[in-house]
Amino acid sequence: MINEIAPNIFNISLLRRGNIKSEEQVLCYKNGKVLMKTIEDKFIIPQKNELGEWVSEGILLGEIDGEKCFIAEGKEEVPQGFDYVGMRDIRRHPDKLSKWITAVGFHLYNWINDNKFCGRCGNSMELKNDERALKCTSCKNIIFPKLSPAIIVAITKGDKLLLAKNKLHPGSFYSLIAGYVEAGETIEETVKREVMEEVGIDVKNISYYKSQPWPFSSSLMLGFFAEYDGNKPIKVDGIELSHADWFDANNLPEIPNRDSVAGEMIRIFRDKNKRQSL
Ligand SMILES: [Zn+2]
Repeated sequence: MINEIAPNIFNISLLRRGNIKSEEQVLCYKNGKVLMKTIEDKFIIPQKNELGEWVSEGILLGEIDGEKCFIAEGKEEVPQGFDYVGMRDIRRHPDKLSKWITAVGFHLYNWINDNKFCGRCGNSMELKNDERALKCTSCKNIIFPKLSPAIIVAITKGDKLLLAKNKLHPGSFYSLIAGYVEAGETIEETVKREVMEEVGIDVKNISYYKSQPWPFSSSLMLGFFAEYDGNKPIKVDGIELSHADWFDANNLPEIPNRDSVAGEMIRIFRDKNKRQSL
């Protein structure tokens, strides 16, 4: 998965402002994109010394194998040899470590940028100096990073897996049923509700698999396996999904890659149920 970067270690630090030193890495975000050093079709996170006076101070994001990494804002003009790269392109980045750090930085940058002012009194917010949070300079209201828990569920019926096609995804791309946890709901209740809402069936034997932070949408994905229960036919909601069906392990449509927990769970199903050809 995209967040599994071992043997590298990425420690998110307390967010604090500071001057960026020569060898330290700099993440500059703008309009959903991030500044990267571009060499042919490769992207590399820039270092302060490569950007010179274009950037000076930033917010410390954390340490990558002991090296500091900052979120910063540069000047208006894009420096030569660099380009702003969309997060969708970043997801195709071959270097897992750079990809992951850029994604985590994107999550925290969006949160800081969306909370410049206090929602309670309207005064400006500042970085809290003893925990990873923002604090209002006037009424002391504290805002923690936005994190939206969401479930994702692999539903099996015998040796078949339920996959659904989202209206927003073009072509023949299918994935698992997913949805956000509502206030006042357990994650198991979310699984049952989302499955019923989106495909109109009941599930049983819900078992937790693993979680995955998904910084692109400020989410924490909670992966589950579950079994089809009862005899209701699939009834697609028509709002989020355009089609859903039971798929055989030997005949899967286009599925998510290994970056996501969904991609990993579908492959677990496939490896368990695939018939060897004679
Ligand atoms: Zn306030």
